[in-house]
Amino acid sequence: MSMNMDTALLRVQDLHVEFKTRRGRAMVLNGVDFEIRRGETLCVVGESGCGKSMTALALLRLIPSPPGRISAGRVMFQDEDLASATPARMREVRGNRISMIFQEPMTSLNPVLTVGDQIGESLRLHVGLDARAARDRAIDMLRQVGIPAPERRVDEYPHQLSGGMRQRVMIAMALACRPDILIADEPTTALDVTVQAQIFDLLRDLQRDNGTAILFITHDMGAVAEMADRVMVMYAGRVIEHGSTAEVLSRPMHPYTRGLIDCLPELGSSAAGAGEARRELAEIAGVVPSIWELASGCAFRDRCPHAMPRCAEQVPPMFGAEPGHAAACWLHEELATEVAA
Ligand code: SF4
Repeated sequence: MSMNMDTALLRVQDLHVEFKTRRGRAMVLNGVDFEIRRGETLCVVGESGCGKSMTALALLRLIPSPPGRISAGRVMFQDEDLASATPARMREVRGNRISMIFQEPMTSLNPVLTVGDQIGESLRLHVGLDARAARDRAIDMLRQVGIPAPERRVDEYPHQLSGGMRQRVMIAMALACRPDILIADEPTTALDVTVQAQIFDLLRDLQRDNGTAILFITHDMGAVAEMADRVMVMYAGRVIEHGSTAEVLSRPMHPYTRGLIDCLPELGSSAAGAGEARRELAEIAGVVPSIWELASGCAFRDRCPHAMPRCAEQVPPMFGAEPGHAAACWLHEELATEVAA
């Protein structure tokens, strides 16, 4: 954790993303609002298809376009709206001020370049280091992410490394330029629990040393308890609850969040220790509504045990309870009181 925790580094406002398809327009993000502050970890949680990864790609303007596009909203990075920045400006921002690590490093690493060349590339491009200095920095980064014998590993190719080491190389690449924000999209899903715990430790250490803000995307509530300062829960392309991790996990106000947590009886103990079995998102009966079928009302109503006529008529806005804790549900107060009782 670092200084200036109250300063919003990134403010996402009313972000909409749509895709043109043969079936019509698919609305994948429907007015996403959030902010991330310097030095904090914000976890984005939800089932696949809820818009978590799409949000990350939209921030970095990596949505394939066409067929996709940001149709409305702003992505304010300090005083600049990245949603309307030029492609040249986005190349400066990506990998330098905001970087991203992906779930499967093998698809993101270049198989024909050494890990040293790949880490060094952004240092040459963004920081202007010469080849020698970039190589020295790459070795230093490999050491920082805990790769043994970095002077030798720097000349190896991705296929010569284990899955855990490849993910560490991805982290080294992402952090080489000391970004303000690191987006980590399911960074440990493909790894076993021991390596997962090591990667969590590593991210925390690097965050503490550099003050980096982390946007951590996961479907694993155990990872949320372990990593997050704040949580935002997404459903059908919207944020449906957000708040501090302690608040959201102990007093969830949205039935969807409650459903996710109810299936995790051991969650209370999970915050204490790493390396436990992975806890997948709960099996909540029903399926996420199709992106073509988002009509009026609350998108969760077909799966919600509390649904009432009003839920079909109006989209519930965000209602706040504690400062910073809010949920998009007409019954937010009743549900919060029930949990507290
Ligand atoms: Fe359930 Fe209605 Fe709340 Fe939606 S608004 S989560 S349908 S009670």
